[in-house]
Formats: sequence, structure tokens, C-alpha cells
Amino acid sequence: MGAGVSRIVIPAQARSLLLRLNAAGYAAYAVGGCVRDSIRGEEPADWDICTDAEPEQTAACFADCRTVLTGARYGTVTVILDGTPYEITTFREEHGYSDSRHPDGVSFLRSLEGDLARRDFTVNAMAADADGRVIDRFGGMEDIRQGTIRCVGDPAQRFTEDALRMLRALRFAARFGFAVEPETEDAIHALCGRLRAVAPERLRKELSGLLCGQAVRGVLERFSDVICVLIPELTPCIGFRQWNYHHKYDVWEHTIRAVEAAPPTEPLRLAMLLHDIGKPASFTLDKQLVGHFYGHAVIGGAMCERILRRLRYDNRTAQLVTLLVREHGFYLLEDTPKRMRKLVSRFGADTVRLLLQVRRADGIATGTAEGTAEKTAVAERLLESVSAQCVRLPQLALNGKDLLRMGVGQGPQIGTILHALLDAVLDGSVENDRAVLLRAAREMIDKSDGFH
Ligand code: ATP
Ligand code: MG
Repeated sequence: MGAGVSRIVIPAQARSLLLRLNAAGYAAYAVGGCVRDSIRGEEPADWDICTDAEPEQTAACFADCRTVLTGARYGTVTVILDGTPYEITTFREEHGYSDSRHPDGVSFLRSLEGDLARRDFTVNAMAADADGRVIDRFGGMEDIRQGTIRCVGDPAQRFTEDALRMLRALRFAARFGFAVEPETEDAIHALCGRLRAVAPERLRKELSGLLCGQAVRGVLERFSDVICVLIPELTPCIGFRQWNYHHKYDVWEHTIRAVEAAPPTEPLRLAMLLHDIGKPASFTLDKQLVGHFYGHAVIGGAMCERILRRLRYDNRTAQLVTLLVREHGFYLLEDTPKRMRKLVSRFGADTVRLLLQVRRADGIATGTAEGTAEKTAVAERLLESVSAQCVRLPQLALNGKDLLRMGVGQGPQIGTILHALLDAVLDGSVENDRAVLLRAAREMIDKSDGFH
């Protein structure tokens, strides 16, 4: 990013908000993530605005719009334009973090400088005026260019004020593939124990963001100590040797590779992080010095449920991830249409689809399972064809009345033939088409006189 590129494009709607505040005599800037992402060349998810107007003054400026006093105490007014919410926050500083979690108080400021100084990282501490001119007091532009996450000010002090910032540093590093600047990193290793004091709701959001980052593996590798503060049950996995030729890596190394190999969605990445958490507790070594982990998925499922509840994940996510962990070991290689149909009727097609993604990531991360991706692809095709077909009798394109008309007598033989036809459809040997099924039924009837 050359010195010349110190302007970003502010979209019309956000710009109109800045201009309206300016016209009323207030300073106003786009700030934080939106400036960072614009400079990185990515479309910002939302545009946050900061101003020297106090909340009531901001609200008065937008009296003709829908506004919500979201956090008036902290200076935030949300203005909704055509359904898009914009947070407008009064310049402020925070003081006295006696609990590493909440500022004891905030006070409103007259100038932008103080507001930028309270922000966590240099890359997040830039603002832009209505014309898109960037204000960069802490070298954020250069840190984006270099790919660095660096605290604004003294890292130890900033992390002592609000311990969550340590996890945020990891989240941004994982998302952008940035390196954590050495002093910032040292402070994280030294102070990460303080994350225990942070509300689980705040941790959970950052943890999920971190796991879904493109550079998650490197971050988990370098900062396993931080992850183990959040999830101490993972500690025994680190360096845990598997004594098994199926596995090239220790449990933690395998785990972080599995996280990386899964699609970046919250349930899948969480499931991969936790899928082998039951291994250390279930380990046995046989006489041939081969390691086994009998029952590790079930043990892990139970651990996973406790962990996700403790971190206050919602019920749906907790239940889904627990199921994925508990069932992650199902046998993939021998899946026939029949086995697939059973899986689908037990878990539902959507969950089986996720289980296959878990299997794929798990296989890839062993470092030894050749062809995992191909095998999973075969199973996925099978899944799609099984779930596209009729899975239950009522969807069969032929019914009992048809058989009666073909001369089959009343009685259990009707059910026998219908089930045989259903199996043939599920096996893929017969199409679920009325004419085709009539022919197949005729053949079955002709082969067996017993039906008459
Ligand atoms: P994202 O795109 O993930 O939302 P973001 O930078 O907008 O990234 P937010 O959590 O929405 O992240 O926070 C908005 C801004 O507020 C940040 O860019 C940063 O300047 C500031 N900020 C947020 N949380 C903290 C914190 N705990 N300590 C200091 N500054 C913070
Ligand atoms: Mg944001």
C-alpha cells in the first residue's frame, strides 16, 4: 500500500450520514473494521461511524430516520437507512478496567485522536472522513501492508485492561493470515490466563471467528496455550502420540489439520476442533505396541457437550456439534445404498452431509489416508441419489392397488413385493418410474407363483 493510497471509497449511504453530521457542525468519520477492510480490498460487512456529537445530538440529527439508542451509556445510536443499520458512536475513552472485562466508566471526548487510541489494534484504529481520506495515527496502513496484528500502545497494558483482546488478536490473525507482532505475542503468552475472567458469551464469538479463519492452523499451532485456557480438556491432546500407522501426527497436530481441512462454518470447525478430544482418555497400547482409542468418539461427544454448554453455545449448535463428534467414526468405505439409506433415516440428509464433511477433513488430516477426498465424493453422490429417490414407501411410483390390478391376491404378499421394489429403487437397480416399476413387478410376480 503506497503512501498515495490513503483514500478509500465510502459508499453513498454511509457518506450521506457523515455529510449530514458535518452539515450540523459535527465531526464524523467511518472507523474501525470498515476502513481496515476497504484498505485490504475487501468489501466491509458494515460501516461504523464515530462523531463528536453526543447521542442525543446524533438522534436529533436523524429525527426523520428510524433510530435506536442501542447503548446510549456507551455513546451508540443506531440509525437505520433502508433496512441497513449504522452504528454511530460518540468519540470516547474507557477507563479503569478493574476486572479485565468491562471499563469502569467511559467518557465522551471532543477529538478523534483519543477515540482511535482506545482501539485494540493498529489495523482497527484508522478512520476516514466523508471524502474517504484516511486518518492513520498508529501505523495501521503499514501493518496491513506487512500483515501484522499489533496493539495500539503497550500490549501488556491493553490486554490487562480487556483480556478479550488477546483472543481478538488471534481471530484477526486467523482471518487475514496476519502474523502477531512479537511483543504482542509475548504478552498474549504471558497473560492468556486472564481470559478465564472473560464472559463466555464474548469468548465464544471470537473463538468461532478464529476457527473459521483461513489461517487457523498456524494460529492454533502457535497459540495452543490460549485455546487450552478456553478448553482445558484439549491440553492432554497436545503432543499425544498415537502409536498407529494410520496416523502421521500427534492428536493435536492432527486436530489442527482437521480444522483447516473442513469448510469454514461454525459447526464443522468446532466439530473438528473437538472430534478427538476423547482420545487421551481412551488410549490403550496393545502387545504389538499399536495404539487404540476404543470408544473415543462417544467419550468425546460427552466432553464436547459439556464444553459447548460451558461456552454458552446455543442449543442447536451444541447438539449438532456433539452429534458430529459422537458419530465421526462411522465407516465410510463400505457405504452401500442400503447403509446410506439407514444413515439418512437416522440422522437426516443434512446431517449426513455434514458427517461426510467431517469424515473428509478427518481423513485428510491423518496424513496417511490416500484417496479420502475421492471416497467421500463417492459417498456424497450416493447420499444425493438416495435422498433424491423415494426413501419411504408412499413415495414409490407404484402402490398396492396397482398390484391388485395385476392379479396379486390380497394379503402380506402385497407388502413383500412393494418392499422388494423399494429396495431395488434404493439400490439404484430400478428407476422410481411407474412404467419401469410395473415391468419389474410383473417379473417378480412371474418368477413366483406364490403371489397368485
Ligand atoms: P469485524 O469485521 O469482524 O466486525 P471489526 O473490526 O468491525 O471487525 P468489531 O468487533 O465489530 O470488529 O469492533 C469494531 C471496532 O471496535 C474494532 O475495529 C476496534 O476498533 C474496536 N474494538 C472492538 N472491540 C474492542 C476491544 N475489546 N478493545 C478495543 N477496541 C475494540
Ligand atoms: Mg464490526
